[in-house]
Amino acid sequence: MKVHNFSAGPGILPKEVLQKAAAACLDVNHSGLSLLEVSHRGKDVIAVFDTAVSLVKKHLGIGDDYAVVFLQGGASMQFSMVPANFLNGKAAYLNTGVWASKAIKEAELYGVTHLVASSKDRNFAYIPKGYNIPTDVDYFHITSNNTIYGTQMRTFPESPVPLFCDMSSDIFSHRIDGNKFDLIYAGVQKNMGPAGATLVVLKKELLQKIKRTLPSMLNYAIHVEGESMYNTPPVFAVYVSMLTLEWLDTNGGVEWAEKRNKAKAELFYSELDRNSQFVGTVDTEDRSWMNANFVMAAPEKEEIFKGMLKEANINGLAGHRSVGGFRASMYNAMDIDSVQVLVDVMKSFEQKNG
Ligand SMILES: *Cc1c(COP(=O)(O)O)cnc(C)c1O
Repeated sequence: MKVHNFSAGPGILPKEVLQKAAAACLDVNHSGLSLLEVSHRGKDVIAVFDTAVSLVKKHLGIGDDYAVVFLQGGASMQFSMVPANFLNGKAAYLNTGVWASKAIKEAELYGVTHLVASSKDRNFAYIPKGYNIPTDVDYFHITSNNTIYGTQMRTFPESPVPLFCDMSSDIFSHRIDGNKFDLIYAGVQKNMGPAGATLVVLKKELLQKIKRTLPSMLNYAIHVEGESMYNTPPVFAVYVSMLTLEWLDTNGGVEWAEKRNKAKAELFYSELDRNSQFVGTVDTEDRSWMNANFVMAAPEKEEIFKGMLKEANINGLAGHRSVGGFRASMYNAMDIDSVQVLVDVMKSFEQKNG
């Protein structure tokens, strides 16, 4: 029985990745040992990290002027690590939701934050535009995809200062020029792997700008120097991320993912716009291809719709607890067939209850 997994995070992973991951838990590379019980200093695990790093670079289109590490503590730890390492005076932030707000809160512990723009006035239902980025700041921090609300930046600002981006929920989902960014981070559990590892990509020259005396575990320079192995890394989470990156690579990379994600989003949103029983909650131009938020025209019929979803083996469609309604997350690993199943349920709901 196929379950259609629309969960916002941890999110859907390719079946073949899960199968390979399961096999490695029992026997990694015919060693007779589980991946979970071997040294991270051994050749099998070093090769996993090397492959993951080179695939990250390939699919972001970046070269050796960037360092790539896998850290722990989730994307939330990056909310603190970023300012601890790089906020020496003032930093600019774009507030596009809960995750951005949390990043701002942590930055305030280390220096002055300049709020460039915010979409809080309409509960983050759009991406602010036409703002000015100050030049007297250490960096400008943005969130490319706002997982909770279903908004996404599909073009990025030309920044006069280093551009930092939380890409947790849309990394590798469409083509971007990685070279536009000085620092990118992403908790891997949305589009790459299980919870437990966070990808951090940063320009090596940034490491020179670390002024503060920091605990070693919070210092990017130490993790870069240790090639993600300053201490025991989350091997399994990185292994699954590597498998997902190999899956992406074999299928045609981010170009392939972009086509597929665009097709899924078009299929879903055209039904949302056509169907009288469902209403989108964000501005059309800022709709995310990863997370699609909507509410019901007749909220009293929610339970009926939920029953139909269950019958169709659709899982994980509940909206975030802070916004309610529904959210269909359609990460890289989701096939268009699953989106079609959801669309069919929406159509059938309208026929029966409209
Ligand atoms: C899920 C998410 C986070 C939080 O990630 P954790 O790994 O749970 O700390 C941060 N930013 C974005 C955009 C997210 O989607």
